[in-house]
Amino acid sequence: MELLQVIRTSQPKSKPNEGELGFGKYFSDHMFVADYTSERGWHDARIIPYGPISLEPSAMVLHYGQEVFEGMKAYRGMNGEINLFRPEKNIQRMNMSCDRLGIPQVDPEWMLEAICKLVEIDGDWIPQRVENSLYIRPFIIATEPCLGVRAAKEYQLLIITSPVGAYYSSGLAPVSIYVEDQYVRAVRGGTGAAKTSINYASSIKAQEEAKSQGYSQVLWLDGIEQRYIEEVGSMNVFFKVAGEVITPELNGSILPGITRDSVIAMLKHWGIPVTERKVTVEELFEAHQQGKLEEAFGTGTAAVISPIGAMKWGEQSIQINEGHIGAVSGRLYDSITGIQQGKIDDPLHWRYL
Ligand code: PMP
Repeated sequence: MELLQVIRTSQPKSKPNEGELGFGKYFSDHMFVADYTSERGWHDARIIPYGPISLEPSAMVLHYGQEVFEGMKAYRGMNGEINLFRPEKNIQRMNMSCDRLGIPQVDPEWMLEAICKLVEIDGDWIPQRVENSLYIRPFIIATEPCLGVRAAKEYQLLIITSPVGAYYSSGLAPVSIYVEDQYVRAVRGGTGAAKTSINYASSIKAQEEAKSQGYSQVLWLDGIEQRYIEEVGSMNVFFKVAGEVITPELNGSILPGITRDSVIAMLKHWGIPVTERKVTVEELFEAHQQGKLEEAFGTGTAAVISPIGAMKWGEQSIQINEGHIGAVSGRLYDSITGIQQGKIDDPLHWRYL
């Protein structure tokens, strides 16, 4: 890629303590920026010091939310090498999101190069501890100053990075889930399969209400019948029922997670039966009554695997696997994080160096 310029910061920030990183609180020294106009396409790719951006108050993203983003991580491997995990999948998904939001797509190779250059320049921001990582957040916003409701003609692509801690700093811990039967996250024909800020804005109220009742995430049901399970919080969801792993099939309102795809591929690789199909909440509670619901877990870049220990649906509350981490959940967590951290072999060729 032709980088127009690289301006290195003259005031590097001090690095946060690796024991207290949390998620998304600290930002590294540089960011990638490129502009889009209908006439010139994507142009003026540059890496500059991380800092405020300037937007007109009439920038279209501020009014109609034309935005897409991605989330992925760079890991420092056992020998100090830098690993990305399936970055081409995130770029492919970003282009799918762009398509849904009427935003111009990016050239995948150009985008991968942009990510790699930024990570290289801020390489000393990749945490040293293997369980920590550098979260990479590419996003595109409609910058054209206009109050008309239509696709903008001007955009900006930015990539920022943030050193983050392990989601479970003291080991995997099962979470409790509230089955959301009032609010929905996405509907058929809507934007649920795209990674765009608007889906998250509409999920916040339900999430806050579940938190105030002591649950850490909501289980989202479909937007039509509110019977079929879609996702958990901002993760995809899997259940193990009588030896078979099942996950809701992609239906246009579920985000196609990269971790979801990796879990399905890994289970197949191990010879564990895995099925993508419609799953109702009734079916799960019934399976639990019959003693067949063996494990439940969410999947996503932030936590990788997040075991579900308890679920509440209306008046019914159940405990899954007596609130313990299931064997398949634990094995998936160890294997996927092991591959990301460069600790074990990479049988499905997911590491990108
Ligand atoms: N669903 C939603 C709504 C999400 O925000 C995420 C996180 N990107 C996921 C699922 C999991 O996707 P991934 O495994 O690619 O992180």
